[in-house]
Amino acid sequence: MSQGELRLEGVHFAYPDGTVALRGISLNIGRGEFVALLGPNGSGKTTLSRLLNGLLRPTQGSVLIDGVDTRRRSVAELALRVGYLFQNPNHQLVSATVRGEIAVGPRARALSAAELATRVTWAAELLDIVQLLDEHPLLLTLAQRQRVAIASLIALGPLALVLDEPTTALDARERLAVMELLRQIHATGHTILLVTHEMDLAGEFAQRCLALSDGELIFDGEPAMLFGDDETLRRASLEPPQVAQLARRLQAPQPWLSVEEAVQALQVHMCR
Ligand code: ADP
Ligand code: MG
Repeated sequence: MSQGELRLEGVHFAYPDGTVALRGISLNIGRGEFVALLGPNGSGKTTLSRLLNGLLRPTQGSVLIDGVDTRRRSVAELALRVGYLFQNPNHQLVSATVRGEIAVGPRARALSAAELATRVTWAAELLDIVQLLDEHPLLLTLAQRQRVAIASLIALGPLALVLDEPTTALDARERLAVMELLRQIHATGHTILLVTHEMDLAGEFAQRCLALSDGELIFDGEPAMLFGDDETLRRASLEPPQVAQLARRLQAPQPWLSVEEAVQALQVHMCR
């Protein structure tokens, strides 16, 4: 049974050319957490995320998914536990219709036709793409293709979802739309690990931030703590979101994480 628990124990990773990408990472992500993985380019975010679906295996240490070492499971078995969205979702689309695309994974598991149809419908409803089921995936917008790719991952039933910079190529409206979808998927009990360098998204959506710098985990805690930790921000080349900067300039007792929070705090102030 998929439980959605992700664990790294003393993980080192070096690529075949000798590049050391991760230097001793230990962390534990429990079921139902919404975690942002932050850090500058080249800090090891993609490498760490790919260790979680078994595309990469650690050079030293272990990666445990639902308590089982990734070395003891195939990539196909791991896909039942961790859905992994690549930075470019086009690489993940292989079928002529959205319906077919969502069914690819479940079909390979020899489910009954009825169960297959139920899963496809469930995933399409969750991702709000029911009206696209008969379309060709490559005729959709990037944001729609991304939803199709997420639906096809979710249809396999994993309780954890790992997404590598899913908002990078989206415009502002699409970006918030995909984040709202992740919030809904999270609300159904899924663990979410969001790789991003967008601090405002981390602040508004994640409960916990991890920051990597040169292959080391230099922060693990709540977004508000990260935004107040100048030394860590500097080491990870991160800028706190503008609302958090505003809170600091106005000497608010704690950083605001979203525009909503800022509005509430300021309204209280102005109505005094
Ligand atoms: P991020 O996603 O944070 O930008 P990556 O995990 O992609 O970081 O990269 C971490 C380090 O590993 C970088 O030094 C990068 O150049 C290196 N790297 C990434 N992919 C490969 C690869 N296929 N072969 C060799 N080195 C790589
Ligand atoms: Mg990357």
